[in-house]
Amino acid sequence: MKRIPLVDINRQYKILQKALDAASRRVMRSGIYVLGKEVEAFEHEFSSYCHVKYAVGVASGLDALTIALRALEIGHGDEVITVAHTFMATAQAIRAVGATPIFIDVEPNTLLIDPNILEQKITKQTKAILPVQLYGSMANMDALNDISIKNKLFIIEDACQAHGSLYKNKHAGSIGHIGCFSFYPSKNLGAYGDGGMIVTQFENIAKKVKILRNVGQIKKNVHVSSGYTSRLDEIQAAMLRVKLPYLDQWNSKRNDHAKTYIEMLSGLPIEIVQVPKNVVSNYHLFVIKTKLRNQLISYLDSCGISTGVHYPTPIHIQLSMKEYGYQEGDLPITESASRQIVSLPMFSELKEAEIRRVAKIVRIFFNTNK
Ligand SMILES: *Cc1c(COP(=O)(O)O)cnc(C)c1O
Repeated sequence: MKRIPLVDINRQYKILQKALDAASRRVMRSGIYVLGKEVEAFEHEFSSYCHVKYAVGVASGLDALTIALRALEIGHGDEVITVAHTFMATAQAIRAVGATPIFIDVEPNTLLIDPNILEQKITKQTKAILPVQLYGSMANMDALNDISIKNKLFIIEDACQAHGSLYKNKHAGSIGHIGCFSFYPSKNLGAYGDGGMIVTQFENIAKKVKILRNVGQIKKNVHVSSGYTSRLDEIQAAMLRVKLPYLDQWNSKRNDHAKTYIEMLSGLPIEIVQVPKNVVSNYHLFVIKTKLRNQLISYLDSCGISTGVHYPTPIHIQLSMKEYGYQEGDLPITESASRQIVSLPMFSELKEAEIRRVAKIVRIFFNTNK
């Protein structure tokens, strides 16, 4: 039997091959490869998709986060409150601008930032909250908004896994002051290389971001600040323009897959990471928790099923974050989750029969390990 991968981005390429190949050829022939009309058009299409006024293409999700922090003038001496249960880029961005990441624990059921413990971490130095819309789910944005207004803090959404996810019918990225996206190939909206996007409702922020992404240049040969060479390129924008119209139907397929998993895994001694009631997840990942995680992964692997762990080492105890002085034990919920989580195969082109096979093998594993 054929192996079932955690994610197979090639199936999508095969379906859209004609349109994608045509889009890339169009750019090759145009002679314009950076900051041309494809990027401009895609920024337009993506901002209307997210229902925000402005979208600015950048080179990656990490750059989107870094430039967002810079645009809000967050830097040395400032603190940004975030989670350690995330991909490293979230924290690297805070570090890159010279600010200090303050890691707090997550809610045990959703594995998202816990607003109830957030306020006690606010100091005079705190400038922003950086919630991560992990696995395509979304944090309690009402609670975070209340805290942000009361304490005059910015909210930067790490929506790098949440293209098209909804919180009370509002798109991920559109709720905070700034939303940051990645178009890494395996994301729900993925390019054929690296890419990212910053979205915002505020004109002054969008203007600053455009300057920062282009070497601090406000117009040709006039540089008003330090900056980055961080532009989404024309080929990627052209490919993403082909894919964006399919995003909602792809996300809805992932929701169907999740439903099948949930039905077929019911009654087992596992915990399925929960999506809050007022959230529609894009199911970037489907994650379950079990104390027998490592054994389950090996068993699935031996049966031809690939899985992932997102993420096995919490950020606060990674070597690169050593200088901030965190230790094992500081974030007990994050740490225990990191030992128990496993991501099952999930992508829109996954076949019903494949999902059933994965679920069946998980059931067999638990029936023999009772
Ligand atoms: C993918 C991802 C990023 C970074 O995106 P890149 O484009 O790889 O730089 C940041 N945060 C989260 C939560 C991600 O999943």
